[in-house]
Amino acid sequence: MFEMVIGLEVHIQLNTKTKIFCSCPTSFGEAENVNVCPVCLALPGALPVLNIEAVKKAINLGEAIGATVHKKSIFNRKNYFYPDLPKGYQISQFEIPIVEGGELVIDFEDGSQKTIGVTRAHLEEDAGKNIHHGSESHVDLNRAGTPLLEIVSEPDMRSANEAILYLKKLHSIVRYLDISDANMQEGSFRCDVNISIRPHGSQKLYTRVEIKNMNSFKFIQKAIAYEYTRQCEAWEDGLYEEEVYQETRLFNTATGETKSMRGKEDSAEYRYFPDPDLLPVILTDEMIEEGKKIPELPDEKKARLIKEFGIKEYDATVITSTLEMANFFEQMIKEGAGAKVSVTWLTVELQGRLEGGVGIDNCAVSAVKLATIVKRIEDGTISGKAAKEVLDYLMKKEGEVDEVIEKLGLKQVSDDGAILTIIDEILTANEDKVAQYKNGKDKLFGFFVGQVMKASRGSANPAKVNQLLKQKLDA
Ligand SMILES: [Zn+2]
Repeated sequence: MFEMVIGLEVHIQLNTKTKIFCSCPTSFGEAENVNVCPVCLALPGALPVLNIEAVKKAINLGEAIGATVHKKSIFNRKNYFYPDLPKGYQISQFEIPIVEGGELVIDFEDGSQKTIGVTRAHLEEDAGKNIHHGSESHVDLNRAGTPLLEIVSEPDMRSANEAILYLKKLHSIVRYLDISDANMQEGSFRCDVNISIRPHGSQKLYTRVEIKNMNSFKFIQKAIAYEYTRQCEAWEDGLYEEEVYQETRLFNTATGETKSMRGKEDSAEYRYFPDPDLLPVILTDEMIEEGKKIPELPDEKKARLIKEFGIKEYDATVITSTLEMANFFEQMIKEGAGAKVSVTWLTVELQGRLEGGVGIDNCAVSAVKLATIVKRIEDGTISGKAAKEVLDYLMKKEGEVDEVIEKLGLKQVSDDGAILTIIDEILTANEDKVAQYKNGKDKLFGFFVGQVMKASRGSANPAKVNQLLKQKLDA
């Protein structure tokens, strides 16, 4: 009876070499407080200087989602206190973000699509991190000043599924653009979910609750489901006003529940004002033109793969959904494997064998090896069934495809003479059935094929068997 209304705020860490307002490195996993300097430590008198690389990456994103890139944008101070924010304010953009508007198309499993509006994308600096060791708490400022691009969507999503599809699409665009490594475990791609409910048919936006700092698709899905039920139950119990109010909640991965963290501040409470240490960002036409030069994006690649190779729309969506998958596929094609067979071997056979967090880009079977397997199926050296054995072997052990085929004795018999010998044996042993077949019992053809395959212990090339058997019986 209630409709879900979801808007997402995604923070991506831009993959610049240095921080947004100083020249400290942005490398991840260092010892605590080594990547710091007077600027990101917020020592008095230290002055920020904008990193142009972060600006370029923001323009790239703007171009990719068809947004307006503002020639003039402003950095503001967002004032709040937190131990991991020694300045007492975060430098962010408020009234005039660098990127405004734009949209992103999501693809459903059934092939239908939906356009999700993007409100804005602005540059800001990340805060540090509070680290808790037993009873002690440390503040690590390595991350303080890392460039972030916050991408805010319109409240256009109506289900957890739509939210996940949006996030996955944005994730892949960011990776294609190479503006962030978007590593979710390391927090380079994290999201705040804004969720409210309303009676079906209503256009009103009710009170939204923010679930903060999510970095796993699985948990985002669970958090949305939990929060939706909580709000619906409150409404049905007549407790909506009391229990659903503007606040920030955290998702507890152990209990699967969201829990109140703090009341959500209105923007007025942050007392935004232009940062007096930073000039407005003025982009030249050349900079904007330069930033519009971006690589092929998932949707363009998808359209091209469909057109060039005649693969199915759904398959093309799967293949282009991540940069790793798309690169793997294109490498296979470059190695001379057929596109349609490659699709199945990549998306079904190889993917189905990945486990334990191993991805397509770091699994034991490279694109060259998988392409070789596909080529050996296509040239009739091995059957599809034998190819699965080869793949199973290579997932666990070292080896070259052709050696493994040899070693496991999987080569198909395609030699006419050898197959004909078996066919003759089978036909002689089943003279009664041959007679029945010749009298019109066509169904028996399958029986003969089966017998020949069995006699060859599966090694005969089925296409050859069919062809030779037909010649023989119809002679
Ligand atoms: Zn620094």
